[in-house]
Amino acid sequence: MSDEPKPSGSTYDPESVHAKYLAERDKRLVPGRAVIRDLATDDHFARYTADPFTPYADREPVTDDVDAIVVGAGMAGLLAAVQLQQAGLSRIRLVDIAGGAGGTWYWNRYPGVMCDVESYVYLPMLEEMGYVPKDRYSSGEEIRLHLQSIAERHDLLDDALFHTGVTEARWDDAAARWRVATDRGDTLSSKYYVLAVGILSLMKLPAIPGMERFAGHSFHSARWDYEFTGGGPGEPMTELGDTVVGVMGTGATGIQCVPPLVEAAKHVYVFQRTPSAIGVRGNRPTDPSFSEGLAPGWQQARMDNLQAIMLGRQVEADLTDDGWTHHYAAVHNPPRHKGMSIDDYLRGAEELDYGIMEDHRSRVAEVVADPAVAEVLKPYYRYICKRPCFHDEYLAAFNAPNVTLVDCPAGVEEINERGPVVDGQQYELDCLVYATGFEPEITPLARRAGHEIVGRRGATLAEHWAEGPQSLFGLMVRGFPNLFVMPSPAHQAVVTVNYTQLALLGA
Ligand SMILES: Cc1cc2nc3c(=O)[nH]c(=O)nc-3n(C[C@H](O)[C@H](O)[C@H](O)COP(=O)(O)OP(=O)(O)OC[C@H]3O[C@@H](n4cnc5c(N)ncnc54)[C@H](O)[C@@H]3O)c2cc1C
Repeated sequence: MSDEPKPSGSTYDPESVHAKYLAERDKRLVPGRAVIRDLATDDHFARYTADPFTPYADREPVTDDVDAIVVGAGMAGLLAAVQLQQAGLSRIRLVDIAGGAGGTWYWNRYPGVMCDVESYVYLPMLEEMGYVPKDRYSSGEEIRLHLQSIAERHDLLDDALFHTGVTEARWDDAAARWRVATDRGDTLSSKYYVLAVGILSLMKLPAIPGMERFAGHSFHSARWDYEFTGGGPGEPMTELGDTVVGVMGTGATGIQCVPPLVEAAKHVYVFQRTPSAIGVRGNRPTDPSFSEGLAPGWQQARMDNLQAIMLGRQVEADLTDDGWTHHYAAVHNPPRHKGMSIDDYLRGAEELDYGIMEDHRSRVAEVVADPAVAEVLKPYYRYICKRPCFHDEYLAAFNAPNVTLVDCPAGVEEINERGPVVDGQQYELDCLVYATGFEPEITPLARRAGHEIVGRRGATLAEHWAEGPQSLFGLMVRGFPNLFVMPSPAHQAVVTVNYTQLALLGA
């Protein structure tokens, strides 16, 4: 597939395109499609949220007054803590439900996990840390270890409270302190309170009739069970040779974990509601000459270059030069000429989009040997209808003899003791992996934070934002003194495909 968006003007017929896209959409418009199990309260599936990576250890409750409490030890929390240190604060406590630092990258250790955005702009503080990512797109484990190094370099771990969930934060006006309670009985207070609870941190589990009856092993991809599969992040899974595995979900996670599963398991069934658009990844080891001649400030300049392209600005060179800058940016900034009518503009945008999606569909046909399987893998919708994905091995994995794609646009009918049922056909599984992603970032912050945030005069953030967020730049909220919300695209902050740049702005 060419990396350039090319409007396929000669074959573009708006009426048939609309009809095909609508027909595919209609197959998926089924009542209950969006219903999920709430893992915070679900008796049966709450166990999916437990930390499989670090053993829980008993500890005495902590009572402490510090300069700042940062909830969430992911990238945003770490960057905020480093900036607070640089602003002169010395006592900072990170608090996280996880057993260590890394947030997203602590939790997501599934086989094949890697970042989507180029590592040279995604891994933060590369210059300060003197680190060069090994590959153009880093593995999750490399990112986790890099974030952990940042925490270690800045002495953030000794005072951190891991395996600890904040249960309430309440502003005490008289004392001008935040009073923070946790599920470990801690009594903490601080001048500043930073909410860095993540944008994709609440695991999503679809509600499928009968799913609690499944007798095999099952887990969510954000808590990969290597004890069951064998292996580890970046290592082959050694225990699946006799195991039939089902993967539910073909979004950003599903496409990354299917190829290693196909290599390791006896058979893999991939249950697909809607195919992702899979662009070229072009991953490769970092060229040894990459860091030669990099001027101070190069990483910020590279982030700015990516962001400028995303905003449709002219740049001297496309430093990232991948599917984001070729396709995503093009779709967001369709050609516009002086005097162009709105109809012409919209038609041009649609034609451009169609050309890009045709390229994606052609790629499927080129890579997947069985035309019937290829057809099911072709995405029929506009490019940003579903988060675009990029991968070099996913489509080819469907040429292996031990993989079956199960097309279920209306979803899986039920799951019983033996496994999922689709169109009346029973699929017998030993193991079912829910690669079903996360609640979207538009999920209200109070829900994502998993605790009540109470400001002046007892007002909660949930009440204050009941009609939608109200903030200064997505960072500060009236009535909640010294509270800093690490920005999220859904909360009056800028939108960017590189979250690191947003987190750095917030910090
Ligand atoms: C597989 C995957 C790949 C991704 N790839 C990219 C990419 O390439 N580019 C990109 O820009 N973004 C990517 N993202 C999005 C990613 O989430 C962000 O880039 C970033 O890592 C978010 O950092 P964060 O610190 O804001 O949140 P998180 O990393 O989610 O950290 C939030 C932390 O808060 C903790 N927490 C929440 N509530 C509480 C509480 N009440 N008490 C204590 N702790 C709490 C959570 O346990 C979690 O550890 C990806 C996401 C996933 C899942």
